[in-house]
Amino acid sequence: MTENSRLIVALDLKVPDKALELAREVHNEIFAIKINWPLLMVAGVGIIRELSSYGKVICDLKIADIPNTNSLITENVRENGGWGIITHTFTGSDSLSAVIDAAGDMKVFAVVSMSHPGSDQFINPVSMDLLKMAVKQKIGGVIAPGNDLAMLRKIREAGKDLIIVSPGIGAQGGNPADAIMNGSDYIIAGRSIYKSEDPLGEVRRINSAVSAVIHK
Ligand code: C5P
Repeated sequence: MTENSRLIVALDLKVPDKALELAREVHNEIFAIKINWPLLMVAGVGIIRELSSYGKVICDLKIADIPNTNSLITENVRENGGWGIITHTFTGSDSLSAVIDAAGDMKVFAVVSMSHPGSDQFINPVSMDLLKMAVKQKIGGVIAPGNDLAMLRKIREAGKDLIIVSPGIGAQGGNPADAIMNGSDYIIAGRSIYKSEDPLGEVRRINSAVSAVIHK
């Protein structure tokens, strides 16, 4: 993996061999891999270590439970080689701090806003409150939508030092350059890469679009 890329590839595949094959193909040109329940449920927790032979693995488990359960989930990720973990924040500060404590050296990314249309019903109206709580807990990074630039800018203004990671790119309508210019540090893309005829070509296209605005 390379620090020169701002791209995190979401391997939302239900066939572990396909996920491993894609990781092998693109790992040298991306910042990190993100995995989620669709892969973990089929492959089991060992897939974290297998994929981490290619570099940083972020487990997007969107943890949303009581503090004790949150700690146990987070420990599983840490003990199996995870580099980062994504947690919900709406369950409150005790649940969030359980994740942060159990994470040790792992990066914790907190969901304060989501990128799908339904997020306007419940989570997005309270995004700024969730962000305030996460910042108070000294969270390192937050997840903010790359396809909702007004929300992204609001989150960037409120958390100048935060690392902002943005899904919503490609299949959900956002584009890499806009997200970076409006405050994202890293962008997540899944379907636009793993469903492409040429995943590495798509990775390169995204990397160049980002480089063009970063080096302007
Ligand atoms: O395929 P696509 O590029 O839309 O994938 C986006 C990935 O980011 C999925 O794994 C999805 O679960 C995740 N995600 C998201 N919105 C959030 C947090 C995570 O789309 N707020």
